[in-house]
Amino acid sequence: MHTEKNLDTGFFGQPRGLSTLFFTEMWERFSYYGMRAILLFYMYYAISRGGLGMNQATAASVMSIYGSLVYLSSVVGGWLSDRVWGSRRTVFIGGVLIMLGHIALSLPFGLTALYVSIALIVAGTGLLKPNVSDMVGSLYTPEDKRRDAGFSMFVFGINLGAAVAPWAVPWAANGFGFHLFGNEMNFHAGFSLAAIGMFFGLIQYYYGGRKYLSKDSLYPNDPIDQEALRPVIIWSVVVVVVLAIIIALMAAMRALNITNIISLITLIAVLLPIGYFVMMLNSRKVTKVERSRVWAYIPLFIAAAIFWGIEESGSVVLALFAEQRTILHIGSWHFAAANFQTLNPVFIMILTPFFVWLWDHWKKQPSAPGKFAAGLIIAGLSYVWMALPGIIHGTTSGRVSPFWLVGSWFIVEIAEMLISPIGLSVTTKLAPRAFQSQMMSMWFLADAAGQAVNAQIVKYYSSATEVPYFLAVGLVSVVFGILMCFLVKRIHRLMEGVN
Ligand code: GLU
Ligand code: ASP
Repeated sequence: MHTEKNLDTGFFGQPRGLSTLFFTEMWERFSYYGMRAILLFYMYYAISRGGLGMNQATAASVMSIYGSLVYLSSVVGGWLSDRVWGSRRTVFIGGVLIMLGHIALSLPFGLTALYVSIALIVAGTGLLKPNVSDMVGSLYTPEDKRRDAGFSMFVFGINLGAAVAPWAVPWAANGFGFHLFGNEMNFHAGFSLAAIGMFFGLIQYYYGGRKYLSKDSLYPNDPIDQEALRPVIIWSVVVVVVLAIIIALMAAMRALNITNIISLITLIAVLLPIGYFVMMLNSRKVTKVERSRVWAYIPLFIAAAIFWGIEESGSVVLALFAEQRTILHIGSWHFAAANFQTLNPVFIMILTPFFVWLWDHWKKQPSAPGKFAAGLIIAGLSYVWMALPGIIHGTTSGRVSPFWLVGSWFIVEIAEMLISPIGLSVTTKLAPRAFQSQMMSMWFLADAAGQAVNAQIVKYYSSATEVPYFLAVGLVSVVFGILMCFLVKRIHRLMEGVN
């Protein structure tokens, strides 16, 4: 038995290391969501207004594929930490790359800087995000009952960073309240603040980590040996060569443009999880019971992908609605379109305590697949809701009350409560022993797949198409949710005792 005396309770009853990881991730998410809050506008605003002058459809598509890549790369980040660098170093390297990515955007180098920045932040987030969460788990022994509460606090840190950033970063871009840049935005000033945020995160991670994180985190869990390294090198070379050939072919056919590159990434993001499923279902390391659980995970994965598709479109489609169709003041209180991005994390922070209470007290609560089905229906309704202003006013020109967006985010965050925390925990429980960490990457791959599909559809969104767009996408989610209601029992049976 562990003696209570040995427990480190220095951070609100939790181990001190949680404070380090909490603030690291808070600042990282501050920089990420702050940057995303203004990036869409930076891409499609005319050059005369400080933007890059891209067309709106391409800018929306880039936002989505960028979001997809960020989570796709977590597969590589998880692997590097497990087998090569250990989590402590991997997270630090990731943070440095992210900071450099924001610095690139803070410099006036236009499109080149944008692509360099995307590459750095995709690589950096892939290294940092999965491993910082993994380190939270390793602060606790398996018997430690504080684990779930620790994760809830960590998620609170994520959302605190994500809630403050959409105020702070646009405020910097608007001249810190002094109208330094006249009536126009200076996006580079905003991106600089994102870089500074990540810098704070790194400093406190470095010093806090030396004091409070275990020495084990300096070493990989499962260090790779020469023999295992060979196939990895061979496969990496194969992947690079195949991609190079595809790109060369695209160039030869004069089809090497941004739209086709985005389509290629969409294809990869959809095929990769399918490949993972096929591999797990066929692996000899997976027992019969575990295989049944992998089957159960497939509908949950599809539901998660659809849900994240809608949730993540908040920084793309709803951001466009905020900019083009929303009255940007309530009485004399004026705000910017980018500020709306705060609503998602604010509602998470408000709703979480209620749902924690609900799951603790509701005796006959639905199983995970039941919660997912309800989540899908509710997420779909958040979109159907957004079709209403156009239908009620009979036109989609002109501006409508900001409360339409507030309502939509409120609805989708109820769905997030039913899917995100439940999904995270069910993923770890359904994972076959031999694929424990890969299965965690699968959770991020659901988000990546959702955003990859978004990259193909958001280009059809505009004020002129908003009513059919919101209705069509919303109804797809509702219909999947209803179908899933019929499958709940069967999926639950396949889960073989996992709840
Ligand atoms: N929005 C959350 C975050 O940034 C969740 C992303 C996910 O789990 O896919 O951490
Ligand atoms: N919902 C996101 C997450 O859970 C935050 C955001 O989109 O701002 O952290």
